[in-house]
Amino acid sequence: MKREVTVFDKSREGRQAYSLPVCDVPRVDPGSVIPSGLLREDPPRLPEMSEPELMRHYVGLSVLNHHVDKDLYPLGSCTMKYNPKVGEDVAGYEGFSELHPMLPEDLVQGSLGLIHGLGRSLCEITGMDDITMVPAAGAHGEFTGMLMVRAYHQDRGNPRTKVLIPDSAHGTNPASVRVAGYESVEVKSDASGRIDPQALGPFLDENVAAIMVTNPNTLGLFETHMCEVAEMVHEVGGLVYMDGANMNALLGISRPGDFGIDLAHLNLHKTFATPHGGGGPGSGPVAVKAALAPYLPIPLVGKDGDAFRIVEARPKSIGRIHTFNGNFAVLVKAYCYVLMAGASGMRQIAENAIINANYLLSRLRADFLVPYDETCKHEFVLSGKDKLAHGVRTNDIAKRLMDFGFHPPTVYFPLIVEEALMIEPTETESRDTLDRFAQAMKEIALEIENDPEKVKGAPFNTPVRRVDEALAARNLDVAE
Ligand SMILES: *Cc1c(COP(=O)(O)O)cnc(C)c1O
Repeated sequence: MKREVTVFDKSREGRQAYSLPVCDVPRVDPGSVIPSGLLREDPPRLPEMSEPELMRHYVGLSVLNHHVDKDLYPLGSCTMKYNPKVGEDVAGYEGFSELHPMLPEDLVQGSLGLIHGLGRSLCEITGMDDITMVPAAGAHGEFTGMLMVRAYHQDRGNPRTKVLIPDSAHGTNPASVRVAGYESVEVKSDASGRIDPQALGPFLDENVAAIMVTNPNTLGLFETHMCEVAEMVHEVGGLVYMDGANMNALLGISRPGDFGIDLAHLNLHKTFATPHGGGGPGSGPVAVKAALAPYLPIPLVGKDGDAFRIVEARPKSIGRIHTFNGNFAVLVKAYCYVLMAGASGMRQIAENAIINANYLLSRLRADFLVPYDETCKHEFVLSGKDKLAHGVRTNDIAKRLMDFGFHPPTVYFPLIVEEALMIEPTETESRDTLDRFAQAMKEIALEIENDPEKVKGAPFNTPVRRVDEALAARNLDVAE
């Protein structure tokens, strides 16, 4: 039902009444709708404690978990990059945090302007023409992108059937392709860990809807044949999708739109400094070339003279993929970061990401196998294969790192490296921190030779030692 709600418009120094649809929620007796077996019989057991006790409880809990405010978090690929506190402050401003998503456009010009401005910056950064800011995660962006690919081909009379994916791609890529109704076809990398145009050739025909390329790939290597690959795929009428979750290695150095990419997603909750993890809100905008713009999901934020408008009348759009304009607070933090860094700062971020990763790689080369050993981008992959002779697996190395106060790296991924350890130091870590981490890794390498049982028994300093991860994932118990 429609009710009149009064909205206070600060910019006009007055009160103005707007008619907003508000539902009247009827009061319901829980007993009449919740099955009796699920109803409490006794009041909940709530602890009684003083304020200091409560504070100590939560501070204690916060340091049981590892987090970037505690120490290095070198979780390759999916790592949290920089999470500046100023972003949190700005996203908390009342003008942003107290908005209702159904406020009329005139009252939210600043926020619409922010969405639009961030979108234009990301188009500039990626070399693309238009963008949707709505997807809530990287994988959601991939799925959105694949729906656009399908709509694009459908519009030309045939949706096509398959999407090619290199074997070094991120794990979400084939999943998104499948969910969008395409067959995912794996293409083998060459000896250098990159897409091999020769190997790609035989897969190319008029059933190829797209190729989906993670760049830099999960080995932390730039796909050097990208232009050639794009040309080959375009030749058969296919599109080129780039998984740009880890753009922190490319910012200000190279733009996907300049090397043949038709559409690409970015992970604002990685590259653009908004925290993620624990299932919190993310954002995976998808930037596109003009030919794909008609299919972008709605709503878009457009500019009409000096005013910003929510645009929904887009007949070829794939439709709605999320409520309203996506995770708005994440966009606020990301814009804050983009404006703080500016154009020159973007390049510096990428250079630092690359220098840090290569510095760490150079410090670890003597102690661990490096299967694809060359200058890397934001991350690199070690192999624990040679440690198997001592009965130690990569998982044991990861667990032992926790005793040194570090979060373990990503393990057993990418699949093309046996006993993989994927390490991303990120652009914001100091040389001291990288040296401490390298020292811990070196000590573990020595332990593996001299006292492998110790490594296999780790961790020793954590409140929970080893858990049955498969059981925990399948029989999740989130109760107290
Ligand atoms: C993290 C990541 C994704 C998935 O992003 P989510 O936001 O976790 O869905 C996709 N591709 C790459 C390369 C990533 O690092």
